[in-house]
Amino acid sequence: MTAPLSRDLRVELDALTALHRRRSPKTLAGAPGARVLIDGAPRVNFASNNYLGLAEDPRVRRAAARAARRWGAGATASRLMGGTLELHRELEREIADLKRRPAALVFPSGYHANTGMIPALAGPEDTVVLDRLAHASLVDGARLSRARLRVFQHNDPEDLDRVLARLSGPGRPWVVTESVFSMDGDRAPLAEIVAVAERRGARTYVDEAHGTGVWGPSGAGWVNALGLSDRVDVAMGTLSKAFASQGGFVCGASELIDWAVNRARAFIYSTALAPAATAAALEAVRIARAEPDRRERPFALARRLRTGLGLSGEGPIVPWVLGTDAAAVALSQRLWERGVFAPAVRPPTVPKGTARIRFSLTAAHTEADIDAALAAVRAGA
Ligand SMILES: *Cc1c(COP(=O)(O)O)cnc(C)c1O
Repeated sequence: MTAPLSRDLRVELDALTALHRRRSPKTLAGAPGARVLIDGAPRVNFASNNYLGLAEDPRVRRAAARAARRWGAGATASRLMGGTLELHRELEREIADLKRRPAALVFPSGYHANTGMIPALAGPEDTVVLDRLAHASLVDGARLSRARLRVFQHNDPEDLDRVLARLSGPGRPWVVTESVFSMDGDRAPLAEIVAVAERRGARTYVDEAHGTGVWGPSGAGWVNALGLSDRVDVAMGTLSKAFASQGGFVCGASELIDWAVNRARAFIYSTALAPAATAAALEAVRIARAEPDRRERPFALARRLRTGLGLSGEGPIVPWVLGTDAAAVALSQRLWERGVFAPAVRPPTVPKGTARIRFSLTAAHTEADIDAALAAVRAGA
């Protein structure tokens, strides 16, 4: 007789526990702002990607509520069936305008955008060349494309050049990377990467999940800040991080968007973004554009935290690499006991041996929050 599934899984779960890799979500009692109630106690929340502090903004919340009243709770169908609302179009125009591109397309999530777009563009004849630290959604998109996969060393245009030089056979290479890496907070040398790709006849796909709304003079991200928007074939981003809502997008040539509508399965076969999320994102993009000063705060707070911890780097993502999974889990637990919620990030989210605490700073944090984190670190040392 076959053992029940639950027994097999218990064995696997116990193995994860032994490796300090077992994960379970913390449950928040209330809005995920800079301070949250979890397990009955207040905690400073360094676990969000709410960089501009817009998740709690009354204007964004009102926009969501109004949209639910006017357009309903759900979009009721996929975009190609009956799910495309004027609201989606308005958001797409706003994003295209922010990014200074001819067109944009909104997906139900950033994960959908990457797993939909990459297979729509690259096929079994082609090669997808990924930065070694590319986000799981980019890896999954590349796998779904059935293209050959290659990696280049993290943020290393020379290695990218070597990888591209070695490719042979039919098909076209796609270079896929992030502008700001989610778990390291560091930036790709995009100008160099794009130049290498152009020289080698490769197309480029840049994920700006952590760049959009946060970096660059207009908050449009690094592709725009570096003047690369005409040279990057596909710029992808999310509405779920700085824009504090839900959803993903791509922008580029109008033909790219038409093609995506016809070929990106994650766009075609998934229900359109809900009205409340769409309207919240639209309002957040507008606020982010109208209030550029918001972007300074998470940077200043991150500097304060880095100085206190003796870390280098810049930007609102502050990774503190401990090395072993056990060390990261133990430190995260000590911080937790002192009212600081800063999760341990372990493999497979980050490479083996680089387990870390990831602090994410937002415009909603205060200097006192940073000082509380530093005090908790010192108390635990
Ligand atoms: C969060 C993230 C995504 C996925 O976006 P969601 O909107 O959360 O699905 C994609 N790429 C990167 C780099 C991310 O950090």
